[in-house]
Amino acid sequence: MGFIMSFSSFIPPQRTLMGPGPSDVSARVLSALARPTVGHLDPTFVGMMDEVKSLLQYAFQTHNKFTIALSAPGSAGMEACFVNLVTPEDTVIVCRNGVFGARMIENVQRLGAKCVIVDGTWGRAVNPQQLEDKLTQHPEAKFVAFVHAETSTGALSDAKTLCSIAKAYDCITIVDAVTSLGGVELAVDDWQIDAVYSGSQKCLSCVPGISPVSFSEQAVELIQNRKTPVPSWFLDQSLVMAYWSGEGKRAYHHTAPVNSLYALHESLLMLQQEGLENSWSRHFQQHQALAQGLKTLGLDFIVPEGERLPQLNTVAIPQGVDDAKVRGYLLNEYNLEIGAGLGQFAGEAWRIGLMGYAARTENVALCLAALKDALVKFG
Ligand SMILES: *Cc1c(COP(=O)(O)O)cnc(C)c1O
Repeated sequence: MGFIMSFSSFIPPQRTLMGPGPSDVSARVLSALARPTVGHLDPTFVGMMDEVKSLLQYAFQTHNKFTIALSAPGSAGMEACFVNLVTPEDTVIVCRNGVFGARMIENVQRLGAKCVIVDGTWGRAVNPQQLEDKLTQHPEAKFVAFVHAETSTGALSDAKTLCSIAKAYDCITIVDAVTSLGGVELAVDDWQIDAVYSGSQKCLSCVPGISPVSFSEQAVELIQNRKTPVPSWFLDQSLVMAYWSGEGKRAYHHTAPVNSLYALHESLLMLQQEGLENSWSRHFQQHQALAQGLKTLGLDFIVPEGERLPQLNTVAIPQGVDDAKVRGYLLNEYNLEIGAGLGQFAGEAWRIGLMGYAARTENVALCLAALKDALVKFG
């Protein structure tokens, strides 16, 4: 009826993804995605979901029963933590040292709760002393929230220390582990993290669109004892719990992204087969190789050594070099994607990701060769 339809199948180019996510997805994970779709309440699928829970407990290093994969991206994991735990009477301390900390603040403010901000420097880790100062000034604070691995700046914060300070003031901890999970050490139980969320497409190297989350017993109790319903129906974890929890009967909540969960299962299995510690050290070794090469090219890191994320390397764009031209050249000539600067670093920095399957020797070599070529051309 007047619609002109002359399309054909979309065949994406074969890129190498070395930006802030999504990261390269292996052929093994992609083939898991292509397996036959089954019903989301099919007993075989339910069995696979139980395995996903166990594999996630391993990845997060937690025995939390409530450890699941939300059917939505990392941003929904963030929102799920705030919307389920925080009520308008609460005071939440949020540490901001980049874009994602700022999003946490927005979540708190939209819920009508009081937000106390620990304002940090972009490109630096969260300062534990600054957090402690705010905690002494605000004894009414009930939550402390921060980003473990700030993907917008490339800074790694000391989650263990920040949580131990928060716990000394009886606060519940909410931690963004979207980029840290699988790439650097993360120990949810040992570090006393009460609510944590991640994403499938960063160091897990799975397809985008799934957010692993885990809640401690204390956090679950808080959700169960709420006096008012969670303001979001879809993210209400008391309903999601009934869908993901075992004991035979599962209540329909929504249709799980069946094939994406096959892919997540495969990527978590790959992580478990490699071993968490091995995965962390692989990320670090590739980061060191990249850092050495960048130094020879005359490129400087923005984040000081000791606070750098191995999986996300933020380098300053040299004076006179055209940011967009270089990134466009890498994409068109090398099929290589690196990330642009975000927020305060827009136009000032490149973000080179070494996440999951992308943290490989051949990727580091490709990136260094391509950058060298581009800098000669546009530098
Ligand atoms: C990518 C990212 C998010 C958001 O995840 P989406 O899957 O893009 O919604 C949140 N926090 C951090 C630290 C991230 O890197």
